[in-house]
Amino acid sequence: MHKPKVFVTRKIPDAGISLLRECCDVRVYPKDQVISRKELMNGVKWCDALLCLLTEKIDKEVFDTNPHLKIIANYAVGFDNIDVKYATSKRIPVTNTPGVLEDAVAEHTFALLLTITKKIVEADTFTRAGKYRFWEPLLFISPQLKGKTLGIIGLGRIGSLVAEKAVAMGIKVIYTDIQRNSSFERQFHARFVSKEVLLENADFVSLHVPLLPSTHHLIGSKELNMMKKTAYLINTSRGPVVDEKALVQALKKKMIAGAALDVYEFEPKLTSGLTKLRNVVLTPHIASATREARQAMSIIAAKNILAVLNGKKALTPINPEVYTK
Ligand code: NAD
Repeated sequence: MHKPKVFVTRKIPDAGISLLRECCDVRVYPKDQVISRKELMNGVKWCDALLCLLTEKIDKEVFDTNPHLKIIANYAVGFDNIDVKYATSKRIPVTNTPGVLEDAVAEHTFALLLTITKKIVEADTFTRAGKYRFWEPLLFISPQLKGKTLGIIGLGRIGSLVAEKAVAMGIKVIYTDIQRNSSFERQFHARFVSKEVLLENADFVSLHVPLLPSTHHLIGSKELNMMKKTAYLINTSRGPVVDEKALVQALKKKMIAGAALDVYEFEPKLTSGLTKLRNVVLTPHIASATREARQAMSIIAAKNILAVLNGKKALTPINPEVYTK
């Protein structure tokens, strides 16, 4: 019997692939690099279901190349790499991987916050270089987090977990979002404020919005100028949410104390000057990279594909309208 064909654009953790192999003909792009456009198109032409990463641009051309495509399963919670509107017009479900990577990203956000504020990278370099000769009262002085204020921009799944962890550490939380969450405010004594009030008052600003036209350059030179000179910016959302050129300038001029970034405006390229700065910590888009999250993401992507190939609704569709229109 003809088995449905699934094309996976990069090697991902086994759990999901094994599930798919039980009843599908699965091809995984074998090279350890981002798939070329030509190879992507060949894979799409061949398959019934595509499992792709945020490194692949899934635009009109991709959808049009195979009119029989049944589902796009994105191996990420963000989906700014996919023309979801066009997918909906073609009644193709697009799925993401919510509910399994939030803890990983929230933990990484804290790792970045602690690393930048406690000057861990500089202190490590200093110690390795044999510069630690005696205890010094003023060596690598840093702010205490307890009692300070964290400003969360985007109190969704990840933002609210970051807020929860902050409250557990005695950090006050203020947040801004396009919608209020009153029960969260009550439970965690969090205060809803405008973006401006948040920028003026937060000691640490953490970004957790999706990349949308409305969030592109949500933080630019005007916003950086509003932040305290002693404040830190943490970005684990999407690079283009921050105007990276403006950020480099603000860091050079010490308009803010520092920034810790997991995502970049033109990633994997970094804006010129960024790596020369000492008041930044940079990680290569690994916020969700725990073993647990990455396995669970592969299972969700696989289950979405299996559901659709079996004539059922996708489990986590970004465009559930495909089932009602
Ligand atoms: P979510 O949809 O649960 O939360 C996003 C929140 O942002 C929502 O509450 C929404 O109302 C709010 N929002 C939208 N537009 C806004 C605006 N203009 N101003 C203020 N708030 C706004 O999403 P999530 O699961 O919490 O993930 C957030 C983002 O994190 C994802 O879209 C993705 O881009 C990014 N992410 C990054 C990594 C990584 O590896 N670095 C991993 C996972 C997710």
